[in-house]
Amino acid sequence: MSTRRILAMQEVEKRIPVEFKKNKNQQVSQYYGSKVFGNDAMREFLSEEAYNSIQQSMHQGTTVDRKVADQIAACMKAWAQSHGVTHYTHWFQPLSGATAEKHDGFFEPIEGGRAIERFSGNALVQQEPDASSFPNGGIRNTFEARGYTAWDPTSPAFIWGETLCIPTIFISYTGESLDFKTPLLKSLSALDKAATEVCQSYFDKNVTKVIATLGWEQEYFLIDSALYNIRFDLQQTGRTLFGHAPAKGQQLEDHYWGSIPERVAAFMKDFEYESHLLGIPVRTRHNEVAPAQFECAPIFEEANLAVDHNILLMDIMEKVAIRHNFRVLLHEKPYAGVNGSGKHNNWSLATNTGKNLLSPGKTPKTNLQFLSFFVNTVKAVYEHADLMRASIASANNDHRLGANEAPPAIMSVFLGEQLSKVLDELEKAVHSGKMSPEEKTALKLNIGKIPDILLDNTDRNRTSPFAFTGNKFEFRAVGSSANCGWPMTVLNTIMAEQLIVFKKDVDALMNKKVEKDEAIFQVLKKYIGESKKIRFEGNGYGDAWKAEAKKRGLNNIPTTPGALEAMISKKSLHLFESLGILNHREQEARYEIALETYTKKIQIESRIIADMVDNQIVPAAITYQKVLVDNVSGLKSILSAAEFKKAADTQLNLIKEISERVTIIKKAADDMTEERKKANNLDSAKKQAHAYCEKVKPFFEVIRYNVDKLENIVNDATWPLPKYREMLYLR
Ligand code: ADP
Ligand code: MG
Repeated sequence: MSTRRILAMQEVEKRIPVEFKKNKNQQVSQYYGSKVFGNDAMREFLSEEAYNSIQQSMHQGTTVDRKVADQIAACMKAWAQSHGVTHYTHWFQPLSGATAEKHDGFFEPIEGGRAIERFSGNALVQQEPDASSFPNGGIRNTFEARGYTAWDPTSPAFIWGETLCIPTIFISYTGESLDFKTPLLKSLSALDKAATEVCQSYFDKNVTKVIATLGWEQEYFLIDSALYNIRFDLQQTGRTLFGHAPAKGQQLEDHYWGSIPERVAAFMKDFEYESHLLGIPVRTRHNEVAPAQFECAPIFEEANLAVDHNILLMDIMEKVAIRHNFRVLLHEKPYAGVNGSGKHNNWSLATNTGKNLLSPGKTPKTNLQFLSFFVNTVKAVYEHADLMRASIASANNDHRLGANEAPPAIMSVFLGEQLSKVLDELEKAVHSGKMSPEEKTALKLNIGKIPDILLDNTDRNRTSPFAFTGNKFEFRAVGSSANCGWPMTVLNTIMAEQLIVFKKDVDALMNKKVEKDEAIFQVLKKYIGESKKIRFEGNGYGDAWKAEAKKRGLNNIPTTPGALEAMISKKSLHLFESLGILNHREQEARYEIALETYTKKIQIESRIIADMVDNQIVPAAITYQKVLVDNVSGLKSILSAAEFKKAADTQLNLIKEISERVTIIKKAADDMTEERKKANNLDSAKKQAHAYCEKVKPFFEVIRYNVDKLENIVNDATWPLPKYREMLYLR
């Protein structure tokens, strides 16, 4: 083995579980949320006036008065100091995908060479980071580079390390949003408005607020840090660009829900502990399908908070993993040939009266409410399927979507047998235009039957990108490294629009004196018919579905540059603008940024490939080839011609194969570099992304195929890179 690989493997051999510092007798309830400026801390530290003001702002979206902000800031500081905090930061989610933070000390020098700790309302409410240093898609001009971060009181401040973190939105000086949170908050409020109106008008006057709920499931891989440290590809791109599949991969299906290795369990307990201090309700942990793959899931929360918590959790996991000599891989496809990682987004709607609107009711009347929200979700996804697809598009996720283990790049909705039947009946029942009383009763009875059947909610389809699972929809196509704020923004927005249309349609019938329930039935029937194409109950992985989807006219867009187009279609631009979520300029900027991000990722991968080929793979192949050549010439000097022919044949073939593969690899790497140069000279982000996708990326496969063959030929002692079998099996 190359020296570095030997040393790394020796380190791995010596690993033992890292002792976990937490007092074992402590129950979660004793420390849960203790590092969050949540309700308890607020009650303890805030005056009555300040407490009421922040509550009102959290629940009704009112702005906090500057004077009150001063009070809140002072109390937050006092609370934070009681935890040993010295710094504060606005914590936000720029479009780079990572979170951003800049820590400022509380202390301020005062006269006489002394200092005091201060934290003003102004510092709490607003800061001015330089927007030009974050992706902005051309929104800011160089002469107006300022951006603002502004406090989001709906997500509580928290402590990480010695720093008080204040969740904020990030906007340009001219008011355009430059982050994931701003449109998410707007979409949540648009959805609240539309859904509340539907509830109040037709179902329940007591509903005054509807929130979207989100429960994500985070999949990830772990790798020993010693091995990670000598794989440049993992370090710089998050995935292995080379590596032959191991003899034993996931084919025995012995990893899923298998026993968790002790070192891994120690890591899980540690990051769960840190998460619980921050009020992140992670509750579930298990082994996933692939070796070295795991999952964690929280109890669902209000969507904005859930998004913040997911991003925070990803950060915590990365930091805690290092304590345990692991690196966490959040990439959608770190290893070829084994399952990739997703982040299923479980989404539903809940009312202030405590009802889940996507949970079938016990009576026909409440079921009509359920069916309205249910059918409207299906219709919304049907109308904006391409935008949904775009919302999860990324260079990483391209490896996963449409591959054999992840939901395909074709958007479809899975409902389950029972609900499909209900919708089919509903569609037929109203066929005549006007229902007879008997028809209506029969239908109501049928709808009334849903809950019993659904209680047994075993009807699952793991191949669907968007599946109904009993009382929520599960957007399964979201990638593991994604900020789920964006797919959630899209889902909330299309649902808001759909509910507005629904209300208009029902009201129009009621204005024509159609009775309310029947008007709702008729509109739902129409939607069911219109959106039928998007419903698919079969195997989403099969080729038959691709053919069927094509026949139905559903799009199958396998790569990101193509998928992103839907972000700036007329329909999408209108959608976002009409609901006040994003104006054209903001949306176009996001599209540009997504294209640029795609290009940069492929560009980096391409460079690393060329680098590893030149510096690691070709040298290793040649080193081994020289061993063979030396041996062959040695044989020649001691054997007769006939003996030599027999003895050297295999080795001569190996020498030849190494030469051939090295030649192919080098040529492909050089050609790839040429294509990269051409792509870099193109004059638009769109052209560049397409060139990287269609001209540069295809070389990856040729190169990898031949490198992986070399890995099999070259002696293990010489091969420089940790192999899949070493990386994927954790002890
Ligand atoms: P599974 O789908 O594996 O059977 P669950 O149904 O308990 O497990 O939920 C999976 C995820 O869905 C969890 O993260 C959970 O918090 C979330 N979830 C459950 N109910 C809702 C809901 N009403 N809204 C959003 N997420 C939910
Ligand atoms: Mg899962």
